[in-house]
Amino acid sequence: MLGFIRSDIANLSAYQPHPGGVSGKPAEIESLPLDRLDTNESPFDLPDELKEKLAWSYKEQIEANRYPDGSYAALKTAIAQYVTESANLLAAIAPEQISVGNGSDELMRSLLIATCLGGAGSVLVANPTFSMYAILAQTLGIPVVTVERSPQADFQINLEQAQAAIAQTQTPPIRVVFVVHPNSPTANALTPAELDWLRSLPEHILVVIDEAYFEFSQTSTVGELAQHPNWVITRTFSKAFRLAAHRLGYCVAHPEAIAVLEKIRLPYNLPTFSQSAALLALTHRQQLLASIPQLISERDKLLTTLAQHPALQVWPSAANFIYLRLQTADGEALTQIHQKLKAQGTLGRQIAGGLRITIGSTDENARTLNRLEAILAEHFPSASGV
Ligand SMILES: *Cc1c(COP(=O)(O)O)cnc(C)c1O
Repeated sequence: MLGFIRSDIANLSAYQPHPGGVSGKPAEIESLPLDRLDTNESPFDLPDELKEKLAWSYKEQIEANRYPDGSYAALKTAIAQYVTESANLLAAIAPEQISVGNGSDELMRSLLIATCLGGAGSVLVANPTFSMYAILAQTLGIPVVTVERSPQADFQINLEQAQAAIAQTQTPPIRVVFVVHPNSPTANALTPAELDWLRSLPEHILVVIDEAYFEFSQTSTVGELAQHPNWVITRTFSKAFRLAAHRLGYCVAHPEAIAVLEKIRLPYNLPTFSQSAALLALTHRQQLLASIPQLISERDKLLTTLAQHPALQVWPSAANFIYLRLQTADGEALTQIHQKLKAQGTLGRQIAGGLRITIGSTDENARTLNRLEAILAEHFPSASGV
């Protein structure tokens, strides 16, 4: 319709964002609390005393008429310290190894611009995985090569396929490999074989390791960055740090890679208020991250219970969400189960033939279990419940 739009963009469908707030609530459940377990946020808001500190800083310290500190020096120093400390690194990560973005999505887009734009490269992803990599690439006209994972082997990437794809893709060659550690939606951390494969990739291929769920998995690849100048590790404040509303992401990489990102990012890409929020969250990280053991223990309880259900196939999780499929692999039934959960107030994400459900508050998790069991009993009356 709009003659000035690139035809590949015209044919692209937009990312379906989370409705946000409570506006996505179906009319029939207006009076129920809505369990928003579809986007892997923390169920816990920032504590009141921290919100008050942030409000105070807005009133007393922030000049709304001034552009933000565009160097992000204080924030980068605090992030570098946190990354070093949280991975027990002997050699400290330097602020020159950090770049910050308006969500880690922005950093991924900048990396694609730096590596693949204008026919310079293709990207490789192993599905199912985070959908934003392919969406970002497509909006930039960058070809996406996909390989599979094996559900039988905890969703490990088919490494032979991946290696063959790199050898065979020539126009343009693969310049970027995206992996998530642990993966979304399948919740598995990188396996030793996957890590070995990433280590073996030549230096002209950028390896992006998305550690959005690091605080839940407590397993990181930052300790190996020094040996791999072609690795970039991305993280976010949107999950464990409870700051999804502020859109804050960062990456850790070789200083030369960071210098390239600095050339590409928009000026003042992080609002002053978001910088303040991130600094506050890092200062109070012990308090904020103290909720993680509880979420992990509730996740494991939920997984143990659901693993006993004869109608379900579930996998271990190293993140704050679980992934399940029906033993019957009946897509129609799965859609109905997803819709019924939603009608009762539990939002999940139906993806790649399965259902991804975030670990929420204790009450939310209890409702997830009760509703899922009741709905499964309707669908599979012969399968005994748990
Ligand atoms: C949630 C999530 C992110 C975070 O993205 P932001 O833009 O920082 O909010 C990144 N990667 C994965 C795999 C995620 O699930």
